[in-house]
Amino acid sequence: MDFFDVVVIGGGSAGYAAASKAQSNGAKVAIIDKGPLGGLCILRGCMPTKTILRSSDVLALMHRAKEFGLSVSNPSADLSLINDRKTRLIKEFASYRIEQLNDPKFKLIEEHASFLSPNKIKVGELVLSAKKFIIATGSTVADFPIPGLSEAGFFTSDDLLELRETPESMVVLGAGPVAVELAQFFCRIGTKTTLIQRSDYILSKGDEDLARPVEKRFREEGMEVYTGTKLLRVEKSRDGRTIIFSHKGIEKSVTASIILQALGRKPNINGLNLPAASVNIDQGRIAVDQEMRTNIPHIFAVGDVNGLHEIVHIAIEQGEIAAHNATQKDLRQFDERLKISITFTDPPVASVGLSEKECKESNIIYLKASYPFDDHGKSLCMGETHGHVKLLCSPSNGEIIGAHVVGPEAGEMIHQMVSLMFFRGTVHDLIKLPYYHPTLSEIFTYPAEELLKKL
Ligand SMILES: Cc1cc2nc3c(=O)[nH]c(=O)nc-3n(C[C@H](O)[C@H](O)[C@H](O)COP(=O)(O)OP(=O)(O)OC[C@H]3O[C@@H](n4cnc5c(N)ncnc54)[C@H](O)[C@@H]3O)c2cc1C
Repeated sequence: MDFFDVVVIGGGSAGYAAASKAQSNGAKVAIIDKGPLGGLCILRGCMPTKTILRSSDVLALMHRAKEFGLSVSNPSADLSLINDRKTRLIKEFASYRIEQLNDPKFKLIEEHASFLSPNKIKVGELVLSAKKFIIATGSTVADFPIPGLSEAGFFTSDDLLELRETPESMVVLGAGPVAVELAQFFCRIGTKTTLIQRSDYILSKGDEDLARPVEKRFREEGMEVYTGTKLLRVEKSRDGRTIIFSHKGIEKSVTASIILQALGRKPNINGLNLPAASVNIDQGRIAVDQEMRTNIPHIFAVGDVNGLHEIVHIAIEQGEIAAHNATQKDLRQFDERLKISITFTDPPVASVGLSEKECKESNIIYLKASYPFDDHGKSLCMGETHGHVKLLCSPSNGEIIGAHVVGPEAGEMIHQMVSLMFFRGTVHDLIKLPYYHPTLSEIFTYPAEELLKKL
């Protein structure tokens, strides 16, 4: 039986970060990953989706060529070529990660791991023992019991990323980031797309005002968007698959050649045999505290498997925190103050810190101000006028407690607010910063001025 200081189960973003940190703190580390090596972000998540979205974004701009005084004849998409570009890039990203995992500073074992006891795991035919374990086994697509859905057949985001021919029509179930990014991609490359969402607006984890400009753009581009629905059943017919749902109290149906089931993911704990380690499971997720520790003090859980946030930089941060706490005497805690989320639609949506929804849920008093991109010089020059920026600040001292962008380059723009908030910057600081003209970033000065007046 091999003995380690730290055994990390899962070599994705969270697991690799944990192993790397623990090893650099002097621990003897093993990483167990059943493969394929690379992790969700690289193989089937962030990177492949953002690669293909670049193609549909360029295509959408080509369709608008006339507006910019340009002429392009019959722009169209070839999904097999888009897919080839994606595969080429993903291979490069994955091979770099595989090289990192194979570094002799760790012991990489490419097997399935399951617990035998709180201190021992079975790894293929081997038994390993360790002082500390870090579980980083990620997530899988969750099943939703919609009558007839399994029988009719559906695609997941994994399946869609392998398609080489543009589907004629598609119904997208769900409206979280994965659902809306893929819905817009397929709509833009020529698939007749319908999006069906239970909540009253898409991207319902965030504020409603941030979702509306995206819904508007989707509709302008020809997507049918139904919000506030209840899914009733799915039927298979010669024409494809029919979704029957109720919308504003009326029963409706949509038929499409394929269904994308993007209703959500669940922590991947199957096969870990957690009861043998006495690790508590809470509503399908491994419950952890701010130190990323489970109820068993020497077992940690990081990344998608703890179900806190399905966001890769948070998975990495949690991995590093767990590794630190597993190897050092002083303890680190996970801090949500600077939680960032970005959805790469067009217009994209980006947030840092608190939303209005969260403030209201936690009775946090705030001041807010917004400013629209259709009244801003640089966005008018660019022809990117959908959306707005919104700032939330504390009424007592003007500290920015939340910043939100739905509009051009939101994913890049938000990072200046991340920097400001990192240093606990205030509205007064924001006003004092210099801004080059004309830039998209200058737009933040307008809500800042309004907040200053309110303060
Ligand atoms: C379509 C899509 C798009 C996304 N886009 C973004 C984005 O743009 N930005 C963003 O921040 N996030 C995005 N995400 C989310 C992001 O990919 C995940 O939050 C992140 O990759 C999770 O990392 P992880 O390390 O927790 O899990 P994973 O990367 O899934 O790693 C888990 C590893 O554990 C291994 N494993 C599992 N069980 C066992 C076992 N029993 N024994 C041994 N090994 C095991 C697996 O083989 C795997 O390698 C996206 C997700 C999807 C699905």
